Amino acid sequence: MGLPKISIRGVTKTFNVRDAGLGRPSEFTAVSDIDLDVAAGEFLTLVGPSGCGKSTLLDLVAGLSEPASGEILLDGKPITGPGLDRGIVFQQYALFPWRTARGNIEFGLEAAAGRLGLGRKERRARAAEFLDLVGLAAFADRYPHELSGGMRQRVAIARSLAFDPEVLLMDEPFAALDAQTRESLQEELLAIWQRTGKTVIFITHGIDEAVYLGQRVAIMTSRPGRIKEIVPIDFPSREGDLRADPRFGEYRHHIWSALRDEVAAAQAHEREAVTSHA
Ligand code: ADP
Ligand code: MG
Repeated sequence: MGLPKISIRGVTKTFNVRDAGLGRPSEFTAVSDIDLDVAAGEFLTLVGPSGCGKSTLLDLVAGLSEPASGEILLDGKPITGPGLDRGIVFQQYALFPWRTARGNIEFGLEAAAGRLGLGRKERRARAAEFLDLVGLAAFADRYPHELSGGMRQRVAIARSLAFDPEVLLMDEPFAALDAQTRESLQEELLAIWQRTGKTVIFITHGIDEAVYLGQRVAIMTSRPGRIKEIVPIDFPSREGDLRADPRFGEYRHHIWSALRDEVAAAQAHEREAVTSHA
């Protein structure tokens, strides 16, 4: 691999927290010593037990927070804050309620207007193009509250794609959707990724989703999260029903076993903590 698109090196993130009973703040390590490279154009999925620091790690790559130690490079340069080179899609659609579907997509384009060199008319045309891409051409003038959950998430995805970021950071974007909507959005996302060659980091708690979407699946340990293992997903072809391929079941089982051990470790830690406080 040439220069990685994203290079996470020895990254640790701590938070100051006040736990019940303790008056003074203490330091809480959310992720610890993370090393992870993501190649340009790669689709990487990230799984780990709940609370292991997946969102924390994504926020760091997004530039929404800073590591306590270590560094994150984008095209070889340290990340210093959020940027239009990275589009973020959160689990809950962070749409502006006072803007229509079209208006929400235009918002991102307004922010990027300088870089993209788009005038008002072009922004409108581009918003229409991306609404069409996610199958919402007919719903352009609806406000978020007039859309279903799946539609809102489509708008959020269209908004992130429209300003053409090189990197897409997705934090359980389909978790709140029904199974059918989720599968159709997975298909769409893969098609978009194949067509545009974007670099994607996609967090999920769905093992099937991780195997289905990812070229590699990174598995995190229980808190403080580290990278436990990276599983390359290698199907001879992505055509046809991947889920019916026997390898799909093998990957799923492998990842499930790795995660089960981490969940058990997390529970054991909690029991220890309770006993030592007693
Ligand atoms: P995940 O996304 O894997 O479920 P998170 O990254 O959201 O986990 O959280 C990891 C840990 O860090 C959790 O224990 C969470 O409570 C803690 N945490 C996250 N954000 C903050 C914050 N701003 N302040 C204090 N603790 C936080
Ligand atoms: Mg999370």
